[in-house]
Amino acid sequence: MHCMKIVTLAGGIGGARFLRGLLRAEPEAEITVIGNTGDDISLFGLRVCPDLDTVMYTLGGGINEEQGWGRAGETFTVKEELLAYGVGPSWFGLGDRDFATHIVRTQMLEAGYPLSAVTAALCDRWKPGVRLIPMTDDQVETHVVVDDPEHGRRAIHFQEWWVRTRAALPAVSIAAVGADDAKPAPGVLEAVEEADAVLFPPSNPVVSIGTILAVPGIREAVAAKTVVGVSPIIGDAPVRGMADACLTAIGVETSARAVAAHYGAGLLDGWLVDEADAAVAATGVDGIEVRSRPLLMSDPDATAAIARAALDLAGELS
Ligand code: GDP
Ligand code: CA
Repeated sequence: MHCMKIVTLAGGIGGARFLRGLLRAEPEAEITVIGNTGDDISLFGLRVCPDLDTVMYTLGGGINEEQGWGRAGETFTVKEELLAYGVGPSWFGLGDRDFATHIVRTQMLEAGYPLSAVTAALCDRWKPGVRLIPMTDDQVETHVVVDDPEHGRRAIHFQEWWVRTRAALPAVSIAAVGADDAKPAPGVLEAVEEADAVLFPPSNPVVSIGTILAVPGIREAVAAKTVVGVSPIIGDAPVRGMADACLTAIGVETSARAVAAHYGAGLLDGWLVDEADAAVAATGVDGIEVRSRPLLMSDPDATAAIARAALDLAGELS
């Protein structure tokens, strides 16, 4: 029997939780995950890849479940010791166990391995059950332009905006710095070309999925396939986090309909919205097949049902 090949683009928490459901819904499938690296940041001389690690820890059984990111059973001795030296930033939570991941990654990067090879090596330990590939081996960093009351208009790293200010300063614009010159990591375009379906989990449409699609070549490759997305917006609000602040920055209304229209019929074939947004399914979005389903990833069964619905819709539309 033909083993189904699925590609998903993924950010952090929304992507990782959806993937757990997908693995449960279709355990025999060959799943390739193209991970967002626009959130990556260098801290204390270490390269930190929050979205890749969230996927890896979640699928590998090492995630802090309540928090949705970071390691379970974490301690913060190194961070406390750094702060005792007055060395920050204090706003980014790196635990002791997590530090080990970043040390291994940085050591390998400095030895000359590309991020894709480093990620594969880290996954040898975590065995996530999917093939996890960063979108690119080149450095891409999401920066946010804000009007800072103290320092005036300036660009800050996405993590500083998101984690330190909790997106409180309105974003004037958001840019994936370096994306224009980045190349897809080895295996990315091949996996998309071979895929039976491409799924967008309910990841942030701007700074997760949008950043992956900004790497030249990825959008075109994805658009050529049957693509089904899951809305991260339910009843005109993000389920968690501040995705509304990102959508506002790019001039897109925070609604399941507006996000589908933003991706557009050139990219999306099918779109799942929550039952709270059944009206969107009833009226439809130009050129995109819309269905309403319960979209809260509240437990493994509910999440698997969402993944099943996405696969069924992809099957119908292919
Ligand atoms: P991040 O990188 O950790 O911010 O995670 P992602 O970009 O992968 O996903 C963030 C998005 O997931 C947010 O915009 C949330 O609205 C969405 N999200 C989180 N939990 C759920 C859920 O249970 N259902 C749906 N539909 N979306 C969710
Ligand atoms: Ca992220």
